[in-house]
Amino acid sequence: MTRANDLIKIRELLQRRRREILHANEGAHRELTALKDQERDPEYEENAQSELADYTLSSLMEAQRREIMLIDAALRRMDTGVFGECVDCGYEIPLDRLEALPFAIRCEEDATRHELETRGGHAAAPSL
Ligand SMILES: [Zn+2]
Repeated sequence: MTRANDLIKIRELLQRRRREILHANEGAHRELTALKDQERDPEYEENAQSELADYTLSSLMEAQRREIMLIDAALRRMDTGVFGECVDCGYEIPLDRLEALPFAIRCEEDATRHELETRGGHAAAPSL
């Protein structure tokens, strides 16, 4: 198995994940609409609970939107042929790291360094 073949595998994985997220989002929207309909029902008195569900769904969708953005960025990097290269040192990111973290744009060493440098600034920066 060559690296190029593995990258194709990761690309297919990302595209499948993208479809799954979009599909899940549709389901979440339907669920949200159903909850809103229940709220209009005067018999329905668990408003607090549905507000919580509303919040959970919208934050879920926010996380999904962010993941779609990461997937799109990774796919763009594949199109331009720089996917799998560390943006800092330019060396190839090991395949096992890419398989575990397909959005990784840095090798493990640079990601750790980057995380240390940015820590204290914007909290909880993802360790890409
Ligand atoms: Zn590096």
